[in-house]
Parts: sequence; C-alpha cells; structure tokens
Amino acid sequence: MQPLNQNDTHAHASGIDASMENRKESGSCRYVDRDVVIFREGDSGDCAFLIEEGEVEISVWRNGRKVTLAQRGVGEIFGEMAIIDDEPRSATVTTVGPCCLLPITREQLANRLQGSDPVLRMVLNVILERFRSTLQNLRGIDHIERLTGDGDLFDGGSSARSHSAAVREIKLEEELKQAIRYGQFILNYQPIIRLADGALTGLEALIRWQHPERGMVPPIQFIPTAEASGLIVPISQWVLEEACDAHVRLNRALSLARPGVSGPAMSVNFSARDFSFSKFSDVIRRILTKTQVDPTQVRLEITENLLINQPDFAAFTLKKCKEMGLSIVIDDFGTGYSNLSYLNKFPVDTIKIDRSFIHMIETENDNFQIVQSIIDMAHKLGIDVVAEGVELESQVGILKELGCDYAQGFFYSKPMSETNTLEILRGCASAETASHVAAG
Ligand code: C2E
Ligand code: CA
Ligand code: CA
Repeated sequence: MQPLNQNDTHAHASGIDASMENRKESGSCRYVDRDVVIFREGDSGDCAFLIEEGEVEISVWRNGRKVTLAQRGVGEIFGEMAIIDDEPRSATVTTVGPCCLLPITREQLANRLQGSDPVLRMVLNVILERFRSTLQNLRGIDHIERLTGDGDLFDGGSSARSHSAAVREIKLEEELKQAIRYGQFILNYQPIIRLADGALTGLEALIRWQHPERGMVPPIQFIPTAEASGLIVPISQWVLEEACDAHVRLNRALSLARPGVSGPAMSVNFSARDFSFSKFSDVIRRILTKTQVDPTQVRLEITENLLINQPDFAAFTLKKCKEMGLSIVIDDFGTGYSNLSYLNKFPVDTIKIDRSFIHMIETENDNFQIVQSIIDMAHKLGIDVVAEGVELESQVGILKELGCDYAQGFFYSKPMSETNTLEILRGCASAETASHVAAG
C-alpha cells in the first residue's frame, strides 16, 4: 500500500476534533492533517480511500499549472482506479482539512466479492471489463496485456468458471419463473411416525420440479436459487396451498373410507426469505381460509437461522401463525447455531433432529450423547422431538430407548406421490397402525 506522504503524528499539532482522535486510537481509520498530499500523479498504489471525515482535493498539473478536478467529502471514495488496474495514479490528492481516511485494498475488495452473489459478481466484472477496454482505447494498444492479462479481479483468476456459474444462475431463475407460470411443481409426501405405537401421524410436503427437459429435479438443485432471487415467496405460497388442498383431499378420502378417521398433520417447509415478505401472515391466513384446512393440522417447518438472524420479526410472525392455530417446527436442529436457550423465546412445538446425528447413532458415542441431550432438553421445555433420516431398525430401537417422540426416514418410507400416500393411509386406517410403511 502506498504510504501517506506525511507522518501521522501531525494529528496532535492541529487541533483535530474528538471523534477523529477516537477513530485514530481505535485504529479504524488513518488520521491525516490538512494540506497533506495523499498521493501524487504518477505514484504507484494499490488502494483506494474512503473519506470518513474531512475533505480532499483532486488535481493534476498541466502546462506548469495546477488544475483542480474535483473535491471529495465524507462518505466518498478516491483513488479507486488503483483497485481496478496497475496503472500509476492519474491525479494528485491533497487533504483540504484534517481527514480520517479508511484504506480499501484491491485484495480486501476481491475477498469480499468472492463470497458474494455470482450474478452481482458477473455484472461487476462486465462493467470493469468495459471500463478497462475504454481505458485501453484511451491509453493505447500497448497496455492491453497488462490490463486484461490478470483475468478476473474478483475471482482470483477463475473468471470463466464464475461467469458460467452466474449465467447458469440467471437461466435457472428464468426457468423457475416459467415453472411457476406453467405449474411445473409437484409435492411428494413423507410419513412421520409416532414411535410409541408406530402410528402414521404426520406427512412432510416436499417439493419437486417436473422440468420439461430435465425430468424430475430435486429441491436442492433449485431452492437456493429460488431463495436468492426471491422466487421462493410465490413458490412457498403454492406449496402451502397445494399441501393444504392435499390434506383436505386425503382427509375427505379417508373419511369416506372410514368415518371418524382423521388424516395425519401436514408439515410445510418455509425459508427465512418467506418471513421477510411483509404480508407473510396475511397470505397464510388467506390460504387457510381458501382451502378450508383445519389450521391445527398444519405445521410450519423453519430453520434455526431465521430465529437467530431475524429474532424480533420471527417472534412477531410466529406468534401470529400460532394464533391462527398452526404449529411451529424447527427443522435440521443441531446443524446451525443450536443455542438451546432461544427455544424459550419462540412458540416452538416440535424440533426435528438433523439426520447427520441419527446417522451412526449406534456406533458414534458423540452422536448418541447429542441426541440424548437434545431429547432431554426439548422434553423439559415441553417440546416434541422428531428424528430425521431414520434408515435402520437399530436406529429406531435406540430412539425409542431415548424417549424420542417421532421418526421420519427411508426405513419407514421415501417421499411419495399423493396417490401412493392415500393408499398407505388407507392401509394404516384398516390396520390401525403403520409400524412399517412400505416405500411408495
Ligand atoms: P428437509 O426439510 O430436511 O427434508 C428432508 C429431506 O431428507 C428430503 O429431501 C427427504 O427426501 C430426505 N430424507 C428423508 N428421509 C431420509 C433418509 O432416511 N435418508 C436420507 N439420506 N434422506 C432422507 P428432499 O425432498 O430432497 O428435500 C431436501 C431439502 O429441500 C429439504 O430438506 C428442504 O430443506 C428443501 N425443501 C424441500 N421441499 C421444500 C419446500 O417446499 N420449500 C422449501 N423452502 N424447501 C423445501
Ligand atoms: Ca423439513
Ligand atoms: Ca430437515
């Protein structure tokens, strides 16, 4: 980084204000006295500066005369060309009064952008490429190698890869819009079993995309894009409405088959992004009314992230949902923040222990201990526990021993179509129990 042209100790001689002094002490910015040259035209440099306090003047020398180009003040950036290319500084920058300057290096910027949205990165890179080529035209052809040879500033040289990832993302977003418009989503249902008696007491609605060319696409391949683009909001609304309709249809079919038999509760997955939609609870209310579903039979599955990242809003919205009669389920429990104390603050009815803990529960003592602690703690708080990803009979045995309330997993059944679900439910109704539901 280019050193400032004057010593920092000048700060004390110039009567700088208290806030600047504090910043200097905290090390968050560099204090510079008035009339200090930050850099000169022709200097080399690899950082820009954000002006936290004060003002600078940007000038060039032409025909022996100083020409002032601009002044920059608080919140503005100067020297940004240095984080775009390796050219010498194109102007001289001098402080007008005492300044606090925060340096931004090329590396810092690149690191931040590395983890950012691929579409945002691609757009930035396109803008920079265009800017670079304009500069090349202005400066002459001999700079081409150096200006473009480094590849992508924001991708550590993996420009082509990130570009195609961004293009894929944009295409996927477009396809998802079509999928919403043309009704290409369907739901599968996976049974949730009460361990005490093997009864099928719940179903989890899981989305699939019937892609016109690619066939059945699993959620892991499109939910992240739907979340990033905001398309998850209409998708979740469709899922809730379809799951409620299916619940009503299944109930009706079961009641016809055997009066007095009520269907299992229906769990629906929601993303944190759904909760940032301001009319979330109004939409839920509208869907409950429209579908005529019994709200006490509907469960919202959310992850811990929502409660940790938007605690106030989550508490407010979840309370409204509870008032409508819905139950709240914390999904993938144990994989996120897992601070058990927060469970008290929210109206949580059930937690689902993530399948990574159930996997090898028989052989890994750590997993066993974690599952045991989660179950004990949840029960003390009056919360039910579902074990996810149960694949083996031996796991069922251990979970029963530990007092786990419910289980879900391939041991009982894979997610299945509504038709197969109805068949299974009819079988359960006639046998009174679903100790081992056949896979659909
Ligand atoms: P999830 O909510 O944890 O759903 C359970 C996933 O675990 C399902 O995958 C299910 O098929 C799978 N699974 C169930 N039992 C077993 C088992 O015994 N072994 C193994 N290995 N896997 C098992 P699926 O359907 O592919 O869904 C993956 C994730 O996609 C879901 O995880 C959920 O986070 C998301 N998702 C699915 N449907 C929706 C939806 O309608 N809305 C939203 N926002 N997310 C959804
Ligand atoms: Ca879930
Ligand atoms: Ca889960």
